[in-house]
Amino acid sequence: MTKKVIIIGGGIGGLALANLLQNDGHDVHIYEKNHQLGGRAGTKKRDGFTFDTGPSWYLMPKVFEDYFRVFDIDINTALSIKRLTPAYKVFFESHDPVTIQGDVNKDAPTFEAIEQGSGEALRQYVAEGDDIYRIALRHFLYTDFSRPSQLVKGEVVAGSARLLKLLATPIHSRVKSFVKSTPLQQILEYPMVFLGTSPFKAPAMYSLMSALDFKEGVFYPSNGMYSIIELLVATGKKLGVQYHTNADISAIQTNGKQATGIMLRDGTQINADTIISNADLHHTETALLPPEAQSYPQKAWDKKEAGISALLMYIGVKGKLPQLEHHNLFFVDAWQDNFKNIYEHKTIPKSASMYVSRTSSTDPSTAPKSHENLFVLVPLPTGVHLTEKKKASLAEHFLTQFGIAIGEPELTKKIVSQSLFGPDDFTARYNAWQGTALGMSHLLGQSAMFRIPPKSKKLQNLYYVGGNTMPGIGLPMCLISAEIVYKKISGIRQPGPLAKIIGKQK
Ligand SMILES: Cc1cc2nc3c(=O)[nH]c(=O)nc-3n(C[C@H](O)[C@H](O)[C@H](O)COP(=O)(O)OP(=O)(O)OC[C@H]3O[C@@H](n4cnc5c(N)ncnc54)[C@H](O)[C@@H]3O)c2cc1C
Repeated sequence: MTKKVIIIGGGIGGLALANLLQNDGHDVHIYEKNHQLGGRAGTKKRDGFTFDTGPSWYLMPKVFEDYFRVFDIDINTALSIKRLTPAYKVFFESHDPVTIQGDVNKDAPTFEAIEQGSGEALRQYVAEGDDIYRIALRHFLYTDFSRPSQLVKGEVVAGSARLLKLLATPIHSRVKSFVKSTPLQQILEYPMVFLGTSPFKAPAMYSLMSALDFKEGVFYPSNGMYSIIELLVATGKKLGVQYHTNADISAIQTNGKQATGIMLRDGTQINADTIISNADLHHTETALLPPEAQSYPQKAWDKKEAGISALLMYIGVKGKLPQLEHHNLFFVDAWQDNFKNIYEHKTIPKSASMYVSRTSSTDPSTAPKSHENLFVLVPLPTGVHLTEKKKASLAEHFLTQFGIAIGEPELTKKIVSQSLFGPDDFTARYNAWQGTALGMSHLLGQSAMFRIPPKSKKLQNLYYVGGNTMPGIGLPMCLISAEIVYKKISGIRQPGPLAKIIGKQK
């Protein structure tokens, strides 16, 4: 039966779910508060440069392939997805740079040259991570854990002791049992930042991220990350999804155990049969719902942890920086202190690890000729407030630090375009809880079966989609989230990707 569905928020999770539901015959409307669709995965043009505003790593390609196969789209062809070689380069405070090829056979000798025995250790670490990744894809990632019977399948039971151990051990402890030198530990631990958490807190289960780095590979759509959003929206438009932008929702209306509709900031009320929130979950629960309909009132959030915030810098530089690859990481020696400052002391580190994308190295159209397009991300604590002046002085400070690390001490003098985005901007633009850049972190208590499930406990027709619910943070994870919610609404109970269930997986 056709139902009217309202999705609050046009982030990747909302856009992806809209297509699945509209394809099934529902009448789907997305209401997005900002002018642009895509949420954190946005795009921005300035001074002749084009920036992706958030995500820049295209990981877990199979998840993208499977999602788009539902619509008979081959994403690899549609977006000319290419593998980046090298995958990334790492700069250190007191070690020579290391280039990672994204192929364990090539990277094992690089490890071995730094620490004897670490080449073989890397092979083993990646093989085990890959095992976990495959089990997760088959049994954990595409489920909301509402059917425990799915978890007693042979393969899961056989591996459950190992998986439980990996859930209970911080990843840092596991990594140091494989490699001893700080640079190598940093290379195996940095992906935890992608999950909004610290390697000293994240469960070792996430060693699967290194299987993505060293085995599956790092990819890039030829026209940038925003082309994924454009493809989702083009697909939705063909199907008939209706997009309402500049539409700030101020309330979800309820009647007993039913969500009945939404109210826009200007007072307009719109009814629907099903409501799905892709907006920040803290905002959805504490600001959009009346107290009696909140499954997670403020006191529940007081016990939860928001992921990191960040200072984002969109930088145009005059001249070329050939010493940089597409993806570049800079790690400080005081690795653990850097994380402690951010997660525990909630202070801004003086010297900070950071990520820099030289997007123009792969896509020259993102910068004028003889210029570079740099996207810089410095993780910051949540809950801090920065004035424009403070953001600018931090940017100058961190870029100087990075310039020195890459042999460009005058880097800041070559900047011809700069815009900054900080914790308060995440709150203002996305209603982000405590200014988090990524959403709820992936601590053990907020991972896998412990993450917020995709359905309200109080309202029978209110669902959640996106990075805060299961399975978690990241573009591919949000596509999986959309599939989980779609299956829940449609009564599909099989685990695994939808494309497989409907016979479209290759
Ligand atoms: C700096 C940065 C770098 C990242 N790097 C990567 C990466 O390299 N690779 C990767 O895979 N992932 C990366 N991520 C994570 C990824 O971008 C997110 O996990 C994903 O985009 C979140 O999507 P979402 O569906 O949860 O929605 P969001 O993108 O959070 O969008 C939610 C939408 O809801 C809207 N909204 C909120 N409140 C309301 C309201 N009241 N009314 C109407 N609309 C509302 C917001 O405006 C927003 O558009 C990165 C994220 C950031 C911020």
